[in-house]
Amino acid sequence: MRPASASAETPPHACPRPKSSGWWGYVDSRARSRQDGDGGGPAGRPASSSAFMAHALHLLSAPTLDVDVVSHCNLNCASCYHFSPIARPRFLSRQSYERDLELLARVEGADAYFRGIFLMGGEPLLHPELPELVLATRRHLPTAKLRITSNGLLLRSMGPEFWDALRGAGCKLILTPYPIGLDYEGLIALARSHGVEAGMAGGSAEGDAVSRFLRTPLDEEGLQDRTASFNSCPLGGCCLQLLDGKIFPCNRGALLGIVNERFGTEFTHDPDDYLELSALCSVEDIDRMRRRAHPMCRYCATSLDERIAWQRSTATREEWLLRADERQLLEAPDAGEARDPR
Ligand code: SF4
Repeated sequence: MRPASASAETPPHACPRPKSSGWWGYVDSRARSRQDGDGGGPAGRPASSSAFMAHALHLLSAPTLDVDVVSHCNLNCASCYHFSPIARPRFLSRQSYERDLELLARVEGADAYFRGIFLMGGEPLLHPELPELVLATRRHLPTAKLRITSNGLLLRSMGPEFWDALRGAGCKLILTPYPIGLDYEGLIALARSHGVEAGMAGGSAEGDAVSRFLRTPLDEEGLQDRTASFNSCPLGGCCLQLLDGKIFPCNRGALLGIVNERFGTEFTHDPDDYLELSALCSVEDIDRMRRRAHPMCRYCATSLDERIAWQRSTATREEWLLRADERQLLEAPDAGEARDPR
């Protein structure tokens, strides 16, 4: 085990052996969780049926590969699962990103595998070299779907090099509409006037504002059943994260180092939590990895998932970490029934 950190060196090693039997291994892992728990946590607390089905359906689609080009944000949504409100300002370096792209481009099938390469954060428009990062991504992955996900707050201040890069790279701009009174339709029209494809997260140009956020409390003690957590997780295996030469199955798990930095917690990453880019042979390695529970899933109390009203973060521990009353709830004798937040 190693402490989850925001930045770590990556020693190369040989190609990993398959970790699971793919889709059927995933389904089977749910059955195991029901019978006897998994991962050293408390007895298996199965995913609710709807959460399980939603996760299973997500796994049928190709995943995204998310790249946090900036850790911090100019909006700071409460319970952000990229932990941006508590992240210290950090910008992805062009050099390290180029190294990761070179490794990724060598993986057989990488160009076509992902549903999209999403440059995000934090708020990506804060990165002073965003045009160069966009162009570098296109250079290494000539046919991949390329996207920037932004809250749009800075869009009207972007210079011509930004618009040229997005247009030249065929990078679509995706705006996530928050209830902050921004004229998102006007911003989409602005992008289109620069010849850049643009849309709202959720797919419709008239998309409703994001009014609720998912809060999943993190268990510092790592006592959750990892298979049960994974099986009801809306992120795992769907939103892969590229970070420091590694591919993780989710954003939240990958970025636990930010929580450690801010709150002095000791979340750790196990080598089984990620794939080293330098050891990847083909996208099948990624596909196997994304369908199984990971050691770090023991930190996610997904049985307590709740949809909270969108609000700005107060950057307190309680926003992300398991509270004492929630711990009591989990330890209550009737806690075996999974709650359904949806
Ligand atoms: S660590 Fe596991 S349960 Fe937590 S967000 Fe990632 S995949 Fe989901």
